[in-house]
Amino acid sequence: MQKLSIRDLDLKGKRVFIRVDFNVPIKDGKVDDDTRIRAALPTINYAIERGARVILASHLGRPKGQRVDKFSLAPVAQHLAHLLSIPVAFAEDCIGEEADINVKTMQDGDVLLLENLRFHKEEEKNDDAFSQQLASLCDGLYVNDAFGAAHRAHASTVGITKHVEKAAAGLLMQQELDYLGRVITNPEHPFVAILGGAKVSDKIPVINALIDRRVNKILIGGAMAYTFFKAQGFTVGKSLVENEMMPTALEIMKRAEAEGVELLLPTDHQVVDSYEPIKRDKIIAKTIPVEFTNAGHAGMDIGVETVSHFTNALSDARTIIWNGPMGVFEEPPFNEGTIGIAHAVAEAADRGATVIVGGGDSVAAVSQAGVAERITHISTGGGATLEFLAGEELPGVAALSDK
Ligand code: AMP
Repeated sequence: MQKLSIRDLDLKGKRVFIRVDFNVPIKDGKVDDDTRIRAALPTINYAIERGARVILASHLGRPKGQRVDKFSLAPVAQHLAHLLSIPVAFAEDCIGEEADINVKTMQDGDVLLLENLRFHKEEEKNDDAFSQQLASLCDGLYVNDAFGAAHRAHASTVGITKHVEKAAAGLLMQQELDYLGRVITNPEHPFVAILGGAKVSDKIPVINALIDRRVNKILIGGAMAYTFFKAQGFTVGKSLVENEMMPTALEIMKRAEAEGVELLLPTDHQVVDSYEPIKRDKIIAKTIPVEFTNAGHAGMDIGVETVSHFTNALSDARTIIWNGPMGVFEEPPFNEGTIGIAHAVAEAADRGATVIVGGGDSVAAVSQAGVAERITHISTGGGATLEFLAGEELPGVAALSDK
């Protein structure tokens, strides 16, 4: 069923409540990475240009239902004002008198950002009275542009939709649904998935869904790979493993083989003998073939040979999805494998493949590698992207009005 879009709303002179994803890193009271804020600009500008009174709401971090200063959205209001080149008012609470007063003084084209929704425990509980209070701020018009939060049934993503006249998708939300929707319904083949990160358990549903959708190859890197290696009886030393997922890893391998899906694991990796983050300057990393791993080694990143194998595996790909880092990306030199893959997917995109990158670390890697502009679609969702690709219905999308 097609969902209502912000383009279907008559916004002139109306107060519109827009749920955005401004869950950005804050450092020394300033926005450290504004990717998510920039991603919401098309929707915000669209509403401003049509003379709406724009009320923005978001969560930031995990304040667990309490007011915690370091999770205040105040620095985001300042940053947004700078990006929009107009003043952005800030309400120090997302409901109650403070929000009401701010909303009442708004003129057409004005922008107001509400304080962190998660300062109220009712947000994550999808509390009905709280949802109603949020809805009372607007003139019956709600827009959800927070794809990254759409897999959560919270007051600002689901509850509020019951108390407004129209609940529509924002432009970013629509773009995400378009690209990801095309990948799950009609991917161009060869279709290759690259999965990394620490947890196999998080990615099982998506691996199974990808096999159902006739993915041609699955490339597995990151700590995830060690669960697959150990399950096959290889020595992985002190590498990170999810022991309880080993039977599942074997099942996936069997299923992939039966369905003709090529499942590629690393052939070499960067290891350390003793990994203590405190002594980072003393870390001596070396690259060895996977089969030379001994009991003392901890695998930290895929090696250069693996980067080259994975790059070759992408050579004829027409659709690529990538989620999760190939190593301990946060700690150089263990970002090298992930950066190598960022270059490989960018080259594939240059050759005309549809490349979708999702998940915080992989998105950071394409930015760090300077190839973000070449990627077909950078998804703003982590968990939401995985759940959508696994074919699950996102509550925040299901709750929007049908066309
Ligand atoms: P996930 O949330 O499952 O996508 O995992 C992301 C995390 O996986 C990042 O914080 C990485 O540091 C971590 N990671 C990736 N590869 C490894 C590895 N070989 N050993 C330990 N952690 C890893």
